[in-house]
Amino acid sequence: MSGGDHRNLIPLKGGAMTGAGSKVIAGKVWLVGAGPGDPDLLTVRALRLLQSADVVVHDRLTPPELLDLARPDARRIDVGKRKSRHTLPQDDINQLLVALAREGLKVVRLKGGDPFVFGRGGEELLTLRQAGVEAEVVPGVTAALAAAAGAGVPLTHRGLAQAVTFVTGHAAVKDGEAGEPELAEPNLDWPVLSRPNHTLVVYMGLTTAGMLAERLIAAGREASTPVLIVENASRSNERRVLTRLAELPKAAAGLDGPALLVIGEVAALAEVEPLIASAPGSLESQAERRPA
Ligand code: SAH
Repeated sequence: MSGGDHRNLIPLKGGAMTGAGSKVIAGKVWLVGAGPGDPDLLTVRALRLLQSADVVVHDRLTPPELLDLARPDARRIDVGKRKSRHTLPQDDINQLLVALAREGLKVVRLKGGDPFVFGRGGEELLTLRQAGVEAEVVPGVTAALAAAAGAGVPLTHRGLAQAVTFVTGHAAVKDGEAGEPELAEPNLDWPVLSRPNHTLVVYMGLTTAGMLAERLIAAGREASTPVLIVENASRSNERRVLTRLAELPKAAAGLDGPALLVIGEVAALAEVEPLIASAPGSLESQAERRPA
């Protein structure tokens, strides 16, 4: 429900405003963490900025409920649209943000979870800084925190986990021809990640689950280590699967993400029994039944 096609409104590659010093840079870009999907998990600052921005630049996975919080007349630009064409290459997104700010616009660059956790927010911030565009980062609830909270899995817990590490299951090498990042195995310290009493949260790990399980077991992690897979954390279609490291590839096969793997002893504490979606309005209906 992100509205019509905004592609014709996208000034690419710097647009017409690149003339040396001819334009005062009055716009600003906020790199805003949108949280994991449930609008209730937006920060108050993110909500305020969404409600006042002239332009909202968002990704393919941004739930429509979040975009509906933007000013009705705000321009919305989907930089991850895949139906007609492929995702905009990161470089074009960076330049788009610069160009919009140079038009004097208040730009919210909405990013899933937190902009600085596997979100390429750093690249966007550096480009903006280099271009002399004012930029600010607004943190968001990263998927790991939402997945853990929803399942009742403490990421650290006395006696079970003294540390938590967030890793990516993929390493992006470079933007490929079609603008898609080419993916490779991440360069990780498997023996360190395999220590017991340590929670490992893997982002983008669904398709590499087999490799991950193999590497961790080979480096000494028990094959029986519990693993919680959380797909669509905080959304109405959230699914949780509790498995063990040895069975992880099989368990991951039926899911198509976005999903996180929570690997470690704490995963055994997960509540995976019937998932009752927190339907909006359910609290109100209970309140209505309460005597006045
Ligand atoms: N910046 C984001 C992460 C972007 S990388 C954050 O802080 O959360 C994209 C990956 O994040 C997905 O492949 C998936 O592993 C994870 N992810 C994002 N949203 C998720 C959700 N609602 N439920 C489960 N995993 C999610």
